[in-house]
Amino acid sequence: MTDIALELKNVWRRFEVSQGAFKGKAALTAVADVSLQVRRGEVYALVGESGSGKSTLAKMLLGLLPPSSGEILIDGAPIDSGNRIAVARRIQPIFQDPYSSLNPRKSIEQLIALPLVVHRIGDAASRRAKVREMLDMVGLPARLLDAYPGQLSGGQRQRVAIARALVMRPEVVICDEPTSALDVSVQAQILNLLLELKRDLGLTYFFISHNLAVVEHLADRVAVMYLGRIVEERTRAGLFASPRHPYTSGLLESVLTPDPDLGVPDTHLGITNANPMAVQNGCPFQARCPSALAICATQPPAVTILSDGWTTCHLLQEEALALQ
Ligand code: SF4
Repeated sequence: MTDIALELKNVWRRFEVSQGAFKGKAALTAVADVSLQVRRGEVYALVGESGSGKSTLAKMLLGLLPPSSGEILIDGAPIDSGNRIAVARRIQPIFQDPYSSLNPRKSIEQLIALPLVVHRIGDAASRRAKVREMLDMVGLPARLLDAYPGQLSGGQRQRVAIARALVMRPEVVICDEPTSALDVSVQAQILNLLLELKRDLGLTYFFISHNLAVVEHLADRVAVMYLGRIVEERTRAGLFASPRHPYTSGLLESVLTPDPDLGVPDTHLGITNANPMAVQNGCPFQARCPSALAICATQPPAVTILSDGWTTCHLLQEEALALQ
């Protein structure tokens, strides 16, 4: 067993998108040359706006979508995107919406036991015992075994979804915005539960979120994604204390504060969102960057290594040149 639970090597995912009648198709690159390593037992967070490629990446990790090129490895072995059952044994998702991710016609026992049934693990009695153990682990009473999702609150449903994801003891758990559909009062309970389970079971989380407050609460390292590319990867402390990429700075400035007198913060990113159909030469962030240089229009920035990670921005390279 290696120290690296999950690794992506130069992963790309491209789509052909219809432009409408008479205009043919255009290429869209949803994930561009993503390489990363998630260490065993850590919480690795991926943040970015809608359209940044986070969801496409999650689908590839779950074997729901093959990469156009590149490799995804769990515990050093490539995942087989064509074999979803084999992938599901090693990597499990917790989705944002516990209302749609649980079949309303199945009892809680059936829902949590489903992975055991699919993988033919144990008999009916041992599965029931396992489901009881999981219910206890996620803080739900055993009397809910025969209940249906419609009888549960949003927080209880998400606990069921977590129990189902963990019943097979996967090597990696993909947490895709696991609290964003929940009431604010319940979000902290679910996040704390995820952290407790990680500690008790030695889990590894790949945590996808647009919510920086959540990421600051539980991530060990953070990758910032923009138009399919990771533009900065840092430790949580380093990223929140001193972001080095202008996009990361804008994301951090966009976090609303509880003080209404401070109003809506200016992110300095303009009003447009990332447009994956309009990636230009040079730096993909140039159209929204408040600090863009002439070189940004023609040359993509190279990786700059930092003491706690890396980033990709010409500003840092210019700074380094100025110090020489
Ligand atoms: Fe902005 Fe240029 Fe840095 Fe891109 S490379 S983030 S455009 S300064």
